[in-house]
Amino acid sequence: MTALIEASSPHVMNTYGRLPIAMSHGQGAWLWDVNGRKYLDGLGGIAVNTLGHNHPKLVPALQEQVARLIHCCNYYHVPGQEALATELVALSGMSNVFFCCTGLEANEAAIKLARKFGHEKGIERPEIVVYEKAFHGRSIATLSATGNEKLKQGFGPMLEGFIRVPANDIEALKKATEGNPNVVAVFFETIQGEGGINPMRVDYLKQLRALCDERDWLMMIDEVQCGMGRTGKWFAHQWAGIVPDVMPLAKGLGSGVPIGAVVAGPKAAALFQPGNHGTTFGGNPLAMRAGVETIRIMKEDGLLAHAEQVGAHLKAALQRELGALPGVKEVRGQGLMLGIELDRPCGALTGRAAEAGLLLSVTADSVIRLVPPLILSADEADQIVAILAPLVKTFLAEAA
Ligand SMILES: *Cc1c(COP(=O)(O)O)cnc(C)c1O
Repeated sequence: MTALIEASSPHVMNTYGRLPIAMSHGQGAWLWDVNGRKYLDGLGGIAVNTLGHNHPKLVPALQEQVARLIHCCNYYHVPGQEALATELVALSGMSNVFFCCTGLEANEAAIKLARKFGHEKGIERPEIVVYEKAFHGRSIATLSATGNEKLKQGFGPMLEGFIRVPANDIEALKKATEGNPNVVAVFFETIQGEGGINPMRVDYLKQLRALCDERDWLMMIDEVQCGMGRTGKWFAHQWAGIVPDVMPLAKGLGSGVPIGAVVAGPKAAALFQPGNHGTTFGGNPLAMRAGVETIRIMKEDGLLAHAEQVGAHLKAALQRELGALPGVKEVRGQGLMLGIELDRPCGALTGRAAEAGLLLSVTADSVIRLVPPLILSADEADQIVAILAPLVKTFLAEAA
């Protein structure tokens, strides 16, 4: 009874097919619902809770910051912005940062940067290359850049100025942009998240970097989901040894405190001038503290290497338990950003896994997504597999 009452929200807009569960509190990689049931967190609030829940180093710092100053607005200097920008610049090899509150806002800023870049070159109608299956957010501009037609239904007209190409195909990209003087940027996720954990290949990323240099296009990499250490490097594109010109971040950057950022290299760092862009909440002292502390704790606790190792351990175990089953197309991804693609839609597994005490999501209809907190232990990774493997086997057997 309590469960149904506590887990219903009649006055909240019906934007999610929610599970009948209401969360109460968390500790590490575990969450408890209002009825005291315990869940292993394989979702991390959708790749957000980098440090898990109630982290002993993060919580006191945030408590101290809340008591000191939460918000003061961007009419004044916010020292935390400079502190976090300094970190992000050092980690990325880029040069300047704009702070906002969400992933879509960071992507909006990136799209505006690309258009301004074009206008400064005398291009009146700038166009941006985007990808099939991409996800960049739910505002009109970021939805226009998104590759999932289902999400756009009912919200047209979409914004013009995007050219869509398939991933990992440099010839297709060259063909789609051939003789077009209006192209100003290429915009993509290193590993597509909502699109189904689809990685860009290292050789493709290198080819793309070279092409962007040759044609004077901005390389804009949406690292909102795959960034912030999730793959074992600070940013997933660093596995290819490249540096983007523009990099939107959000999700894991504040370990759960809303924050977004767009990091820019020399080609884009000075495009925005006073009056060109802004935000009321962006860059507030609380969010900046969350970002600074997240990075500090990640470094202190060696979470990059940890995410890489535990992720490899988890992927190998999933591969071993599920990889050879008929009905499992692929186990893929890097670090703690993993997907298990089935040969059929499997949304039902979300609820079944929760009933069995495991939180995960299903994305692109048929891909089981695991994006747990980066503090996940190898033992907890084994527990994920112990819960998930039998569920998948049963599901495949009954739907066959
Ligand atoms: C989640 C996500 C976004 C949108 O972020 P919001 O904070 O929900 O606006 C954009 N790009 C990628 C790659 C994402 O995973």
